[in-house]
Amino acid sequence: MTDKPLHPRTRAVHHGIRRSQYGEMAEALFMTQGFSYDSAEQAEARFIKVGDDEFIYARYGNPTSRMFEDRIANLEGAEDAFATASGMAAVNGALMSFAKPGDHIVSAKALFGSCLYVLDVLARFGVEVTYVDGTDLDAWRAAIRPTTRAVFFESVSNPTLELVDIAGVAELAHAVGALVIVDNVFATPVYSQAIAQGADVVVYSSTKHIDGAGRCLGGVICGTKQFVREVAEPYLKHTGAAISPFNAWIMLNGLTTLDLRVRAMSETASAFATALQADPALKVIYPGLESHAQHDLAMRQMGAGGTMVAVDVGSKERAYSAMNKMKIFQISNNLGDAKSIVTHPSTTTHSRLSPEVQAGLGITAGLLRLSIGLEDADDLLADFREALA
Ligand SMILES: *Cc1c(COP(=O)(O)O)cnc(C)c1O
Repeated sequence: MTDKPLHPRTRAVHHGIRRSQYGEMAEALFMTQGFSYDSAEQAEARFIKVGDDEFIYARYGNPTSRMFEDRIANLEGAEDAFATASGMAAVNGALMSFAKPGDHIVSAKALFGSCLYVLDVLARFGVEVTYVDGTDLDAWRAAIRPTTRAVFFESVSNPTLELVDIAGVAELAHAVGALVIVDNVFATPVYSQAIAQGADVVVYSSTKHIDGAGRCLGGVICGTKQFVREVAEPYLKHTGAAISPFNAWIMLNGLTTLDLRVRAMSETASAFATALQADPALKVIYPGLESHAQHDLAMRQMGAGGTMVAVDVGSKERAYSAMNKMKIFQISNNLGDAKSIVTHPSTTTHSRLSPEVQAGLGITAGLLRLSIGLEDADDLLADFREALA
């Protein structure tokens, strides 16, 4: 390869590959839990210090998982990464691995339900958590104290697609030495510049766009070598968060086509949202539209609107009736899939939140969350319009 810096699409295809003595073209699936040593002395030496490309046990690391970790760290602009069994294992690991009783964490309140659960567990063990409106920099400023250990937020919130200003929050957090941990699922690695914008740790559920076809669970924590290997890894490897080599292999192959897929899905989402916003009976929420309250921030932070669209159709009755008539959109709760998905957050993904909390987060009875897939934009629009008619 050339000495010129390579573009992300090239790195997404080649970076991190390890070839065995057979020189296989495709990334090998090392479906092995253990590794054999040449001698007792070698085993002893490896338990004292594991080298960069050495392995002991798949709970600690595996060559296929390592290829996935290297490739995503490279795309994210992070020094290192640790792959986990699910997105939640990554969120849990990123927070639990460093937190101790008495620590203070500031978090955006608009979070995926399971992320809220993890913060509740931390609170049970004596960590103090302050929740803020993530879109409001003054609220972050007021909540962050000299003793704050970390801030946590989804860069684009689920399901109402509100953005948190990564650079703005990072500046406030870094002024007191707090760690900035970003759940970046909705932004995707394609539109993420989170590390460059000040995030210290970026977590993904690779179940979503990185797999891209809804096949398996996975997650990853990206950060500095020091955080990933000295803080996160000891916690993750001893508590059993490791990804299956098979799932890591799916995710590794997912990265190869991620850029092409996410850009196509985002273009379709943009065309879809633009076409629907002309309908006065609908409230269309999409960061790529100028009508989005944080459109400028979205363009600055991500450079695109992303693959998710939220549409308020007015009432639960209208939402259900439309969902039941859709033929292409599948009623489900994953996202980032090649197949477009419609979700009614208020009665499914966010149903455990009280009506008051839902209202506070803008989760109305008529709100539909749409994950735009790889289908033709005209077909998706026709499916949605006919279902609403
Ligand atoms: C899906 C999701 C998670 C959890 O990921 P899993 O792979 O399902 O464990 C965490 N955060 C966000 C924003 C998500 O969308």
